[in-house]
Amino acid sequence: MGEIGGFLKIDRSNVDYRDPEQRKDDYREFLVAKPEPELAEQGARCMDCGVPFCHNGCPLGNLIPDWNDLVFRHRWPEAITQLHATNNFPEFTGRLCPAPCEAACVLEIREGNAVTIKQIENAIVDRAWDEGWVTPQPPAIDTGRTVAVVGAGPAGLAAAQQLRRGGHRVTLFERDEAAGGLVRFGVPDFKIEKWVVERRVQQLVAEGVELRCGVDVGVDVTVEELHDQFDAVVLSTGSRVPRDLPTPGRELRGIHPAMDYLYVRNRWLARTDNEQSPVPTVPAPEPVEISAAGKHVVVIGGGDTGADCVGHSIREGALSVTQLELLPEPPVSRSDDRTPWPLWPVKLRVSYAMEEARATGLGDADFSVVTTHFEGDADGNVTALHYANAEAAPPFAPVEGTEGSMPAQLVLLAMGFLHPEQELLDQLGVEKDPRGNVKAPTYETSVSGVFAAGDARRGQSLIVWAINEGRQCARMADRYLHALNAEQAEPVLVGGGDADEGPDGPPQSAGPT
Ligand SMILES: Cc1cc2nc3c(=O)[nH]c(=O)nc-3n(C[C@H](O)[C@H](O)[C@H](O)COP(=O)(O)OP(=O)(O)OC[C@H]3O[C@@H](n4cnc5c(N)ncnc54)[C@H](O)[C@@H]3O)c2cc1C
Ligand code: SF4
Repeated sequence: MGEIGGFLKIDRSNVDYRDPEQRKDDYREFLVAKPEPELAEQGARCMDCGVPFCHNGCPLGNLIPDWNDLVFRHRWPEAITQLHATNNFPEFTGRLCPAPCEAACVLEIREGNAVTIKQIENAIVDRAWDEGWVTPQPPAIDTGRTVAVVGAGPAGLAAAQQLRRGGHRVTLFERDEAAGGLVRFGVPDFKIEKWVVERRVQQLVAEGVELRCGVDVGVDVTVEELHDQFDAVVLSTGSRVPRDLPTPGRELRGIHPAMDYLYVRNRWLARTDNEQSPVPTVPAPEPVEISAAGKHVVVIGGGDTGADCVGHSIREGALSVTQLELLPEPPVSRSDDRTPWPLWPVKLRVSYAMEEARATGLGDADFSVVTTHFEGDADGNVTALHYANAEAAPPFAPVEGTEGSMPAQLVLLAMGFLHPEQELLDQLGVEKDPRGNVKAPTYETSVSGVFAAGDARRGQSLIVWAINEGRQCARMADRYLHALNAEQAEPVLVGGGDADEGPDGPPQSAGPT
């Protein structure tokens, strides 16, 4: 364990970020690494609880007390071995995870006091890369079995890496010009620089994963070809259909789904700053023009996607940026009757982007606001957004007498995603759940040999869940591949329900290892 009684003597030291007023002028990561002695001190605060609730809080079941202790004892090479035992891409989660583990840390019973788990995770993996401890691990065996993984987001990357390390021949298809999914084309560089993603992709390639970018499966490769050429298929296509806003004026020019804007910004950065963003291996699509520069920008939707739109708009030189949220403002601290410890607390979190908007005086966030209609000019360009206060409960109807309007020359719709794109699922004939996600309770779909993982299976979620799903799905596909020669596949041992459910949280493996 960490230092006995360490948590009584040492205060939590939060993650440091660069000053919002300075960082808004560039696209470099804003997270500031702490020196090793300070991290070791933070690791010393871990109490190594008899029941480590952080394990259950982390969807990957990361061995948190173990590596906290190893960092405290300066045993960094062992710490990365422990971390990689459960997490293929700790540099993604160490930078981007909302850290449900910290919400579940026993020290968090005194709110704001948890061990800085995520910061330590990030430090371990960054140091491991710097020291050259992260190397390709090609398989020692070749099963001769072939797998197509469709979609190279975190779920597909994790599934591909696990299956390859199990000795299978893996082809990873990706529609975009580079791998990484939303971590590459959704999340901005100031949260994770793209060479960090590419470095990991190249590890997979060096392990023998065949990466084929610029291939839209279902269009460039038919499902018949998939079935003919591969023993198994993993669908990890994400949940990409955006929720729309069917409001009068929606058809005006200048109103876009958030991801359209984020793709444009990420591709622009990849073109203009190649030292920071590796050049894709296949050409990117022709650039589309969506820009916030010199405009009043309104982002509809108060979540992470909306925050990333705000962050980019500020860097582009928007005149103002306002983020609107339909739901009421949550309480500033954990509400014990709604989300008691160790649950993930519903509470107000000021995003990095809102910090930047406030620090630069460019804008703010507003809660309980419903958009009633958009106004445009004679040329069909949006010029204003009309709103009203929203009632506190569904259907969040406008409250009479509270109407207003604000200038808006660019409106970004960041109200979440409905489900995966349906075309490929329909071509494959896989069953779907009532929300339109792939129905695959134990990762295998209704079509034998076709598996699903990540947002395509669970709906738009988190990177940590995508990695977890990729790993578990790979385990199930691996079982299937090994059983192919037998008369019948081995029985599935994860129970009848969804493999994520159950009193013990996510299983660490989906069957005997
Ligand atoms: C803007 C934004 C910011 C986010 N920020 C965070 C964050 O900070 N922290 C966090 O934990 N989560 C965040 N998320 C959520 C997180 O990124 C996703 O939950 C995660 O990326 C899902 O991984 P995935 O692999 O299932 O899908 P995706 O990352 O969506 O990857 C799916 C991949 O499949 C490819 N694909 C789709 N169809 C085909 C096809 N037919 N043929 C070939 N390829 C195909 C797509 O091009 C894509 O690369 C964010 C989401 C968004 C939209
Ligand atoms: S992956 Fe997320 S939940 Fe798990 S230990 Fe890291 S920060 Fe915590």
